[in-house]
Amino acid sequence: MKLQENLEKVSIPFDVYKVREDFPILKTTVRGNPLVYFDNAATTQKPISVIERIRKYYEQENSNVHRGVHYLSEIATKEFEAAREQVRKFINAEFKEEIIFTRGTTEAINLVANSFGKTFIGQGDEIIISEMEHHSNIVPWQLLCEETGAKLRVIPFDDNGELILDELEKFLNERTKLISIVHVSNSLGTVNPVKKIVEIAHSYAVPVLLDGAQSIMHQKIDVQDLGCDFFVFSGHKIYGPTGIGVLYGKKDLLEKMRPYQGGGDMIKSVTFQKTTYNDLPYKFEAGTPNIEGAIGLRAAIDYLNEIGLENIAQYENELLNYATEKLSQISNLKLIGTAKSKGPILSFILENIHPHDVGTILDYEGIAVRTGHHCTQPVMEHFKIPATTRASLSFYNTKEEVDRLVQGIQKVIKVFS
Ligand code: PLP
Repeated sequence: MKLQENLEKVSIPFDVYKVREDFPILKTTVRGNPLVYFDNAATTQKPISVIERIRKYYEQENSNVHRGVHYLSEIATKEFEAAREQVRKFINAEFKEEIIFTRGTTEAINLVANSFGKTFIGQGDEIIISEMEHHSNIVPWQLLCEETGAKLRVIPFDDNGELILDELEKFLNERTKLISIVHVSNSLGTVNPVKKIVEIAHSYAVPVLLDGAQSIMHQKIDVQDLGCDFFVFSGHKIYGPTGIGVLYGKKDLLEKMRPYQGGGDMIKSVTFQKTTYNDLPYKFEAGTPNIEGAIGLRAAIDYLNEIGLENIAQYENELLNYATEKLSQISNLKLIGTAKSKGPILSFILENIHPHDVGTILDYEGIAVRTGHHCTQPVMEHFKIPATTRASLSFYNTKEEVDRLVQGIQKVIKVFS
């Protein structure tokens, strides 16, 4: 083993206070209180290295990609394609052509629904999703079903927020064309047994899309090990910029799929008689891409690699356990989402207090949480509640911040008692 590989295997001690120095925004004060940012499932904050990389791009490298023969265009193209290669390595895809840049998770799912959907799904066919999907993994399939006459089947979950997998086997049949399922639920925190789901699906020759929007920042993703056919995520949730995301798809499937959008870059030649499409991945990247986004995403991945995803997973899990224990001690508080395997997401309700009031009072304390249905209305419907308060943690959060959340909640309870 080479020295570099050896060094990568050595776990660097994780120092949260040192890590916090990398995020300028964490020094913000809100109404006189130091900011506690617990809205990481909505979007994460950006380290200085990402911010500076984007600045460098505009100061020294800005140009359009793939088209120019001039100096700047060559640099921009090289950096854009290097970002693709870095994403490939990050999720261990086999080929660079399998990495398609999109606007985010939502666009990646819409791409698959429109392209895979309109290539392979027709009247009477079935698509399986689950009851805990984000709206962006429900509505694109509903739109497809409206257009094609296909049907949606929905795997339910139990009151802990765990999928009832027996139902999946009952749904699978020769009409099933795709399973599209969330890896980690954004409102319950449940980590779904996706490897098992892929195994079951493949035994029926059904491809699987994994919505990795909430898993990619918390654990090492290896798409070949997971065996999934598609994997999607957003840059802004892994400490990168907004407006950039990734669709990973197996090459043989992507090759058979029709383009999603038409325009520049996705063609080889255009005449009024016949247009031929470009090779992968460009067939799915019509128009000028988000160049700064891809380059910023690469910087975010470099940053995560430096910290180490194993360190991140271990620290976040410790923080989740600490927060779960502390919140569980508050009477009148009920956690929504108590699966055995969870990501660092805590959704809760307080008896007789609306989550919006909880969020507003916590904001006065400088604590940023999210309240609402979190784009998972069917999850709220399951528990017969309108909304939850959600604290979602990152490796830059601390136990002291969890303590401040607990004090804040106690203040809310006092105000309403
Ligand atoms: N899927 C899940 C599980 C999410 O949590 C989110 C965003 O919160 C999305 C999809 C949509 O991501 P984006 O808005 O970045 O496209």
